[in-house]
Amino acid sequence: MRLVFLGPPGSGKSTQAASLSARWQIPSLSTGDLLRDAIAAQSDLGKLAQTHVEAGELVPDQLIVSLMRESFGAPATQKGWILDGFPRNLAQTQALDTLLQIMGQPYGQVVYFDIPEDLLVERMLKRGRQDDREDLIRQRLQIYNDQTTPLINFYRRRHCLIEIDGSRSPQEITDAITSALRPLGRD
Ligand code: ADP
Repeated sequence: MRLVFLGPPGSGKSTQAASLSARWQIPSLSTGDLLRDAIAAQSDLGKLAQTHVEAGELVPDQLIVSLMRESFGAPATQKGWILDGFPRNLAQTQALDTLLQIMGQPYGQVVYFDIPEDLLVERMLKRGRQDDREDLIRQRLQIYNDQTTPLINFYRRRHCLIEIDGSRSPQEITDAITSALRPLGRD
């Protein structure tokens, strides 16, 4: 099973990534979590990423791509993976294609979490993470709208996009994802 989760911040990607990675016993690669870990550990990458994460802006592609290259190097990813938070712009989409090609892996399917913006802000304010201040949330949504939404059409044209109503309950969303995958088969 190889899945890319695409959707705005607060759309529930991480919740689904956690439950489906446990169910299928495959790693969930969350760039946000990996970056927060790197920042907490004050690794070289963490130090370079910190100001960007704290400002609610995208970390430079080069850093994210090297983080992903490292993550894909782990043997556990041979069986499958869920990508949560990557790719987030067209350059990262191309980098992912290249990375998968090098590793001889298919690109899998893309699950798009569609959800109204009001609900996102409400959910993120409740979550209360350090970068979940209203101004930073608006900034991250703006970046999402500008840079990430073009990926929806990119993957739609590639015929690998599964669209999910992200305003439903976590259980309903899990069910919707698993039943949408079935007819397409599990690679
Ligand atoms: P959210 O989805 O709420 O924005 P994440 O945990 O996915 O939260 O990401 C937190 C922050 O990490 C982002 O605001 C950004 O600074 C950085 N980040 C995560 N993924 C990427 C990525 N693919 N490219 C660039 N920056 C990223």
